[in-house]
Amino acid sequence: MKFETWLRPEPSGLYCEAGDFYIDPLYPVERAVVTHGHSDHARPGHQAVLATNETLGIMKIRLGDGAGKTTHALKYNEAVRLGEVDVRLVPAGHILGSAQVVIDYKGQRAVISGDYKRQSDPTCQAFEAIKCDLFITEATFGLPVFKFDPPGNEIKKLLASLRAFPDQTHQIGVYGLGKCQRVISLLREAGYERPIWLHGALKATTDYYASCGMRFGDLRLVADATEILGGEIVLCPPSALGDRWRRRFTEPILALASGWMRVRARARQRGAELPLVISDHADWPNLLATVADTEAGEVWITHGREEALVHELTRLGLKAKALSIIGREEDLE
Ligand SMILES: [Zn+2]
Ligand SMILES: [Zn+2]
Repeated sequence: MKFETWLRPEPSGLYCEAGDFYIDPLYPVERAVVTHGHSDHARPGHQAVLATNETLGIMKIRLGDGAGKTTHALKYNEAVRLGEVDVRLVPAGHILGSAQVVIDYKGQRAVISGDYKRQSDPTCQAFEAIKCDLFITEATFGLPVFKFDPPGNEIKKLLASLRAFPDQTHQIGVYGLGKCQRVISLLREAGYERPIWLHGALKATTDYYASCGMRFGDLRLVADATEILGGEIVLCPPSALGDRWRRRFTEPILALASGWMRVRARARQRGAELPLVISDHADWPNLLATVADTEAGEVWITHGREEALVHELTRLGLKAKALSIIGREEDLE
């Protein structure tokens, strides 16, 4: 049986006809299964939303009443019957609550990865590889040039800069959901014990992580600072890096934590003097390793650098196609 007879890409997103639901739909639908809380996946206005409890919590914070008329929280690996299919959510290792969607239908299994990574991350549960017939993967960093070192190396670079320039504020642009909390955790893991200062826009999601049991040590709001924070670490949304906000600090050193910092031109364009290559997506070797781990014979690629991955998987003897799903951001995560 061809997978397309029960699961297929539509303008609104992936649609599972046998279960009558969409996965991460871009436009409001009756029934949505949502992989994680990033705004390019968790859209407002659906009637019913099925996701992990953490994803639902994040959606509530970001979307308020738009987070879904009715919601259904699913624990990792808890199965539910939707129409004629069995569905379960499995950790994706991307951000808190992020999940892959496992769908079983008449002896065939499809796994939709959502965004994912294989690097360790203390702020979320580690990716679980599930054997399947069809693996549907992202490819944000689907080019051989994308190969990420362990994030601890990047944190060492940051701490070395702090030692070299002890009077200057180190202002780090971080995506507010996931990256911010991961960078804080990485700093603590590296033994950094000073207060970490946050832009107000990062507070709600960080508080939510804390309410889920995450320990972040001493966090303070820049708005509450009585001094100019020389020699301190300040986290802010990437958009605040270049704006007037930075004038609060003395000769700030601007850093940005993103997989895109692997590309020098992007770092320059963003004004990041200290690019920190820390990504919440799989790099090229991990994309290939993950496909191999699933033992899938067919792979669909939802978004990102699709061509190179299709080419490489075809060369390896797999059936591969690009879905080019629209509306997926790649900018800041
Ligand atoms: Zn994401
Ligand atoms: Zn995404």
